[in-house]
Amino acid sequence: MCGIVAYIGHREAYPVVLKGLKRLEYRGYDSAGVALLNGGKLKVYKKKGKVAEMEEYAMGKDVKSHIAIAHTRWATHGEPSDRNAHPHLSGDGKLAMVHNGIIENYMQLKQELLNKGHQFSSDTDTEVLIHFIQEIKQSNDCSTEEAVRIALKRVVGAYVIVIVDEDNPGTLIAARKGSPLVIGVGKGEHFLASDASPIVEYTKEVVYVNDYEIAILRADELILKNISNEIQTPYIQKLDIELAAIEKGGYDHFMLKEVFEQPQTIFDSLRGRLDAKSGTLTLGGLREHLDTLAAARRIIIVACGTSWHAGLVAEYIIEELCRIPVEVEYASEFRYRNPVVGKGDVIIAVSQSGETADTLVAMESAKEKGAIILGVCNVVGSSIARLSNGGVYTHAGPEIGVASTKAFTAQLAVLAMIALKIAQAKGSITEQRFQHLLDELHDVSEKVATALLLNDQVKVIAEKYKDARDFLYLGRGYNFPIALEGALKLKEISYIHAEGYPAAEMKHGPIALVDENLPVVFVATKDSYYEKIVSNIQEIKARKGKVIAITTEGDAMIPSMADDVIVVPEADELVAPIISVIPLQLLAYHIGVSKGFDVDKPRNLAKSVTVE
Ligand code: GLU
Repeated sequence: MCGIVAYIGHREAYPVVLKGLKRLEYRGYDSAGVALLNGGKLKVYKKKGKVAEMEEYAMGKDVKSHIAIAHTRWATHGEPSDRNAHPHLSGDGKLAMVHNGIIENYMQLKQELLNKGHQFSSDTDTEVLIHFIQEIKQSNDCSTEEAVRIALKRVVGAYVIVIVDEDNPGTLIAARKGSPLVIGVGKGEHFLASDASPIVEYTKEVVYVNDYEIAILRADELILKNISNEIQTPYIQKLDIELAAIEKGGYDHFMLKEVFEQPQTIFDSLRGRLDAKSGTLTLGGLREHLDTLAAARRIIIVACGTSWHAGLVAEYIIEELCRIPVEVEYASEFRYRNPVVGKGDVIIAVSQSGETADTLVAMESAKEKGAIILGVCNVVGSSIARLSNGGVYTHAGPEIGVASTKAFTAQLAVLAMIALKIAQAKGSITEQRFQHLLDELHDVSEKVATALLLNDQVKVIAEKYKDARDFLYLGRGYNFPIALEGALKLKEISYIHAEGYPAAEMKHGPIALVDENLPVVFVATKDSYYEKIVSNIQEIKARKGKVIAITTEGDAMIPSMADDVIVVPEADELVAPIISVIPLQLLAYHIGVSKGFDVDKPRNLAKSVTVE
């Protein structure tokens, strides 16, 4: 969601920020813009649409500069348009700012400024803030830095802002609260970005800016202060991602590349943790909390979107193995409904980016109420990871495709390990079952590799059903959340309406939709629900629905009933979801591609949802 890139240093700034914006395109956006100082004067180029359209617009114009700020906007206040695109200027035209997030009290601030005679040329909350900063600067006769500090004390909401100041051409000012911001530290240059992908090809040294910090960047100087003007020591970390990890590597789309990376990424999520040979499982980030976890009166998994589906699978596994009650909550609902949380509760926050605004705030309030917070995130050093008392990284590598795939299966693997670890600490699992599940998890990446061999077959099935208006996805038990996830993937990238449902619950409503035009995807691998789901398939067939069934090797019954069958390797039902989701990812991908959609950047969606 929204991308920010900025540069100051010895290079030409425009090509650096332009390339950076392209690297951030995966996050989802609707317009793009850049501001730079050319011959000492602020120049702003911005356009609705893709970065390439803004680039074309700026072609041949004055772009020479050693300082630039750039932005891809995901509209929250005001429609996507040229005038609402960032950067925005202050009333006197001397300050330009890019912003990610929402200024919640912008109406009030705007009214105050209107009363003082300010005029606005956009509908955004962002423009209000930069006018407000300039107003403070003027009336207090202070520096831009001081004005930013004073302004931010009044601001309610979440933001990353970066400002370039015509009167101070050698300095960038940035600040954050609640949205991500990384500084890249080079030799005689500094980079700023929403994540590390625009930075990694220039430097591996980064500083993650914390909430309520203000960064003052010059080519050869980085000053970090808190909002009370106290100097903070920047903590420089080494990035562990390579450029290749954020490029397509021969695949047509990032999504397909990431789907095919899964045997490796699942393996990476287990590596150094699960050793099936010696029967050991080590999760360093849980070590200090194992007693608390074993004694937990309740576990609440808080997440959004695909991560929420991973949480649902975890609910089934944890309740089965640990006998601890588990609730899975949508973060956005959980945070606002004054939930009953306190000591003895463990919150597991699941988020690919580790920046999901709803999840982050839900964690903060639960932490205040005395709950222990564990994070399951993919992005190392992310806000959720830093706010957690402990946790486990998924180590799936950068996920660029907006529709989550490899991060999901890594979450499933990590959550299964967490369940096993708690069960072991609690003594609620036999040694034999523990060992069996370690073996099953160990084997899962190979089985995922086998499932990926189905790609061509799934493509043919996709072609057959791509013109359907609706889809139904059904599953039971551990595969019920996979039905939800399959439906979500299809909606996200093919814009076909799809519903996921527990297969038996279908009788209580959605069965009314079934006719010869409705494809129904059954996730029906061999497990303890098998006999029951066979009956559900019969119910659909009796109403002439088209059945596409995901089954396991050796199943003779379902293939005789289904219109199309996709056979995946068999696994213990606790780990089977990691395998059964693979053909559903491929089905959504091929349908999206055959309909001609941009599967890596589906319309209206953002990768890391950093606004509420
Ligand atoms: N609230 C701002 C706007 O609508 C920023 C949105 C973003 O994060 O891209 O312009």
